[in-house]
Amino acid sequence: MPDDDKIKKVRGDTLNTWLKYIHKKWGVNGEQTILKKLKRPNGYKDKDFYPMTEYEELLQWVRIEHGEEHLFQGGKFIVANYGLLGWFFRFLSIKLFLDKIPKSMKEFFNFGHAEVVILDDNHIQIRIYEICTTHDVCKVIVGSCTGALEMTKTPGTMTETKCVHDGEDFCEFTFKGE
Ligand SMILES: [Zn+2]
Repeated sequence: MPDDDKIKKVRGDTLNTWLKYIHKKWGVNGEQTILKKLKRPNGYKDKDFYPMTEYEELLQWVRIEHGEEHLFQGGKFIVANYGLLGWFFRFLSIKLFLDKIPKSMKEFFNFGHAEVVILDDNHIQIRIYEICTTHDVCKVIVGSCTGALEMTKTPGTMTETKCVHDGEDFCEFTFKGE
């Protein structure tokens, strides 16, 4: 076993917001099925950190049992329902929202980092290092960024333009305004 602080971890509230999505879509049974699979009968504490492998397993279950589209939809849901933060996001411009991603990533994960590259007002890139441990995580990020466009009423698209799972050094998500 590696030292505990060297294990890649995610904050409990990310998992809990996913559990809310699962509950909303597939009811108490859906939520209990995944908690049993994760061996977490009592769920998660918002502010504690848990192994990234549990997050990976949750996302894999969503994809295999319910379809890949739910990674995108769940990503949208989590950005809108992330406690007070989700409420706060509504008052930001997309540029300010994207600007907050590096800081947010530091809060939600105990590893990796993100950079924002502003090319011009209509072209912004987010580069995410290490955090996309599986391709499912990339799809959630595309969903969350798309959710942010909707919440801030910004016309445009968000796509993944580079991916570590294609051999790149980071995953790059590009906002293209209309
Ligand atoms: Zn990726």
